[in-house]
Amino acid sequence: MTTKRRWNFEGKVVFVTGGGAGIGRATALAFAREGASVVVADLSEAGAKETVQMVEALGPRALAVKCDVSKPDDVKAALDRTIEAFKRLDFAFNNAGCEQPISYTPDVTDEVWKRIVDVNLGGVFHCMKYEIPLMLKYGGGAIVNTSSGAGVVGIRGQAAYCAAKHGVIGLTKSSALEYAKEGVRINAVCPGCIDTPMMDRFTGGTDEGRKRVMAQEPVGRLGTPEEIAETVLWLCSDVAGFAIGHAVVVDGGQTAGL
Ligand code: NAD
Repeated sequence: MTTKRRWNFEGKVVFVTGGGAGIGRATALAFAREGASVVVADLSEAGAKETVQMVEALGPRALAVKCDVSKPDDVKAALDRTIEAFKRLDFAFNNAGCEQPISYTPDVTDEVWKRIVDVNLGGVFHCMKYEIPLMLKYGGGAIVNTSSGAGVVGIRGQAAYCAAKHGVIGLTKSSALEYAKEGVRINAVCPGCIDTPMMDRFTGGTDEGRKRVMAQEPVGRLGTPEEIAETVLWLCSDVAGFAIGHAVVVDGGQTAGL
């Protein structure tokens, strides 16, 4: 059975960080359904390889790369391998992130602060640093960075994560202005509470934990990773050609009333 394509990204190449699970995996698969070749860059080689198998089962070519986005050399090497394998770069979803253990600001250790900021904010910076020149070289492209509801509101016990995710929005806006006229569109997506392995860790995977989180969602449920993927694909598509430098909040209404 052939599925009707909405965007048709045949011939396009997408680089997805944190593509080995959760939102990144769902987005990698959504791009694959539209015909794009997919590079899955993840700290977890096993996760990246599993996603690659899922992409290949849908038809398109894919490449798994082990990469820690907090390390600039890893990111550069992953993008070098992307060009080696696919000869171009059209889209990037800079999505890899990690959660902060809950603790008030004075109790956040320097180690936790550094890791949370290095991965969630530094990772996006390192990716864009190497992606933008490649996109300019290969005729333009679109980048979507993953922020969070925590990028637009403060959350008690989440100072480092909120600082990093707010930072992603500032970084997105500034870079977007720099390249708006040069055919590289840059935006961010801010997911609410999404049903992923990260959310399982946050809720402890229990019914009670999930109910506690769902209670924060006006819509009364968790979002699905596929609902975030839909927004990412739309932002990368040509119909979003006038969307530049914004953070699109997809959160079941969670931050609407705050
Ligand atoms: P997840 O933990 O389910 O998956 C994240 C993936 O990123 C994993 O495969 C992990 O191995 C990888 N990863 C972690 N650190 C990495 C690093 N340093 N380098 C490369 N890969 C790394 O998480 P998710 O829920 O899919 O979250 C994806 C993104 O969305 C993150 O940036 C997260 O902060 C953000 N987010 C998630 C939610 C949510 O409710 N799940 C809400 C808002 C924002």
